[in-house]
Amino acid sequence: MTQPEKDVATIVDDLITTDIGGRDTIYPIAAAAREKQGTNPAMQAAERLTTDVGRGDVVLVLTGFLIPPTMIQETDGPLGAVSVARAVDIGLDANAIIACEPNAVEICKATATAGGLNVLDRMSNYESKQTVSVEAFPADQDEAREYAEEVISELDPAVVIAIEKVGPNRVGVYHNMAGYNITEHTAKVDELYELLDDSVTTIAVGDAGNEVGMGVVEETVRREIKYGSSCQCDCDEGIAAAVSADVLVPATVSNWGGHAIATCLSELVGTPLLHDAELERRMLIEASMAGSIDGIVGGTNAWCDGLPTHVHVAIIELLHEISRSSVHDRGGGELAR
Ligand SMILES: [Zn+2]
Repeated sequence: MTQPEKDVATIVDDLITTDIGGRDTIYPIAAAAREKQGTNPAMQAAERLTTDVGRGDVVLVLTGFLIPPTMIQETDGPLGAVSVARAVDIGLDANAIIACEPNAVEICKATATAGGLNVLDRMSNYESKQTVSVEAFPADQDEAREYAEEVISELDPAVVIAIEKVGPNRVGVYHNMAGYNITEHTAKVDELYELLDDSVTTIAVGDAGNEVGMGVVEETVRREIKYGSSCQCDCDEGIAAAVSADVLVPATVSNWGGHAIATCLSELVGTPLLHDAELERRMLIEASMAGSIDGIVGGTNAWCDGLPTHVHVAIIELLHEISRSSVHDRGGGELAR
């Protein structure tokens, strides 16, 4: 009996938007995104990568979310950034550069190393596979403008992917989920998005409404998410991020969105690109050992977004299973019934 063709893209989307932690933000965001983009955003992102990224092109991966009051980088973001960096490096021969808050650089480097990537200086050795660069995106507005100009003129990125990158609202203020203004210590990525033209593809992953890319569903975030349209700071314009993207990938945990893009890119290029479960565990542990904290419960316990380590490991196993039973292991003939 012939198995029906598996709709990997929709199954992946269902998995990564299931509200396992009951955080109560992903369903309205994912529903609004589906209405605008369909049920396969991670696959759409992967398709854009295959069409828009040539061999040797730079893919700039933005991440970074500092948690008040300590303003320490959370564990959500860096792992997803490493996922997509690996996927474009191995799958597309691209040059992956991760840019994050200055005080998150060491955490992102530790995460990348734990994830099996060799961390090298920018443009130093892109002939090698499984390499990435990690650099600081300035928090100072003027320095951020200079950095953005330099990125565009020197690197000319084909694609910019933001993963759990806190984004400014419609009046330029960056907020955390509790509605507080965290602009001061945050990378001013608004400077980059202001300069990007339509020739650069933008992909974004977010989970709560205050991240880059949520401009796609801004009205929903303003209406449905706590503090969406009215925050706890003087701007009183809410946490809803106004920066849009060509493709928004909503995910319960933003890291999972990065993993989903890697999974879908694997399908398209026919090569397994997603890291294994053991590396997921290692990344969470090493990110924590480098000081990264769970953004919801706090602490360097190798949790992420209030969910324990083993849940994230399980998501990797499930993504591999979705992928395994579609293309990679299907060559062995029809499954016995
Ligand atoms: Zn505000």
